[in-house]
Amino acid sequence: MKSFFVSSEVEPFAKTGGLGDVSSGLPSALSALGLDVTVVMPLYPVVKREGLEKLPEELEVQPGNRRRAFSIYRGETPGGVSILFLENPEFFGRHGLYGDERGDFHDNALRFGHFCAAVAQLAEAWKVDLIHCNDWQCGLLPYYASKRGIKSLITIHNMAFHGQFPMEFAAELGLPLDNLGEFEEWGRLNFLKNGILRAAGITTVSEGYAEEILTPEFGCGLDGVLRSRAGALRGILNGADTATWNPLTDERLPARFSARDLTGKARCRAALHDAFGLPQTPDPIIGMVGRLTEQKGMDLVLSGIDQICSMGFKLALLGAGQAEYENAWRGLATMYPGLVGVKIAFSENLAHLVEAGSDMFLMPSRFEPCGLNQMYSQSYGTPPVVHAVGGLRDTVTDPSESSDPTGFKFTPYSTEAMLGALGRARDLFRQPEGWKKMVTTGMRRDFSWTLSAKKYEAFYKTIL
Ligand code: ADP
Repeated sequence: MKSFFVSSEVEPFAKTGGLGDVSSGLPSALSALGLDVTVVMPLYPVVKREGLEKLPEELEVQPGNRRRAFSIYRGETPGGVSILFLENPEFFGRHGLYGDERGDFHDNALRFGHFCAAVAQLAEAWKVDLIHCNDWQCGLLPYYASKRGIKSLITIHNMAFHGQFPMEFAAELGLPLDNLGEFEEWGRLNFLKNGILRAAGITTVSEGYAEEILTPEFGCGLDGVLRSRAGALRGILNGADTATWNPLTDERLPARFSARDLTGKARCRAALHDAFGLPQTPDPIIGMVGRLTEQKGMDLVLSGIDQICSMGFKLALLGAGQAEYENAWRGLATMYPGLVGVKIAFSENLAHLVEAGSDMFLMPSRFEPCGLNQMYSQSYGTPPVVHAVGGLRDTVTDPSESSDPTGFKFTPYSTEAMLGALGRARDLFRQPEGWKKMVTTGMRRDFSWTLSAKKYEAFYKTIL
């Protein structure tokens, strides 16, 4: 079985969020199971070209009325998986993956539509049996692939992003103008809808989220479309990339540690306080890393920050995103000096330091398809406090559920419920033995990709 794993972002070449992590971790795990998998992504200017080999073949793609050329470069992921970069300077030779400071690129429909058409053409030439598509950027790929008789599966990493565009792009993308129903929703082109309807199999990134997206509350308007394909939908939990996220080998940290010997964690804790300009006190420090958007539960933290500080917590936040949240956080750092430390940035090094150096990790997401940071934080001995939703519900164990808990969950989605869970976390933190047990139980959890990769392999076989 020969497969393509197609994604618009792959760590460490180009990443804006969890999709990039998954697109490096899962293909490595599939390849370790013996599968013949090749990763395919666009060639952006951020991708370093050293070590890439330009292939002699060129792709001439013409889904609609205009012809475009793609060059192909071959490289290898850090996990040793073969990766192809498709180059088209008109569409991908610009700064930014999906947009720039002025917003989303106006021609994303053409950029990713043509990319999909190019991948389908290449898959046919290379006699690929199955194309694994990811998110709306690959939304039209199942359609182009099916026209060439190639089976595909689409993984939904976030139902909130559909890839919606003006209908005028349909002609240039070669979509059937007399029958656009399966490409259209609310009068606009909808890439994800078509992916859901056309792919032979659909997965999303946790079992919890697979149930949730069938409901109007979480289906973001496509729950009806999804219910029509419920038989083809599976929830398969993401793994964590344990080569990158392992406190015992993590070169980005000032010191390394394990469940057996936590001394290095104390050094990371001290370095975290320094990096965020906070005083070295024994009071618990909460870490947060993520996109500053509504999804991530920013409203709960902003409305509860006064109580969080008066409960005896300090807070270190690393994030970037919506301007109003960035400004609000900068304001909090000024209002609560010595208690709230803020870095508005995207920094892998700091993300690792926050995971390692914090005492607990807060993730109050309104919805969360899978979430990676709560897994990383458990591996790094930093019990997470999470809203019990989607993948957060599936991956964190609360004291009310088991005698071997790894963190704290709250529901409903409210500031009071979040503060209640933080209060329970603080109380346990004050009991060193009980806390250490929670810390080390989380560190011993297996969040590797192996089990999930086996589930994908089984699903690939079912589809074929
Ligand atoms: P999402 O994909 O919704 O953004 P996830 O928790 O699934 O959320 O994955 C987010 C990934 O992006 C994690 O690897 C996280 O560490 C990383 N990340 C998010 N924001 C930042 C940031 N400001 N700096 C560094 N890494 C970040």
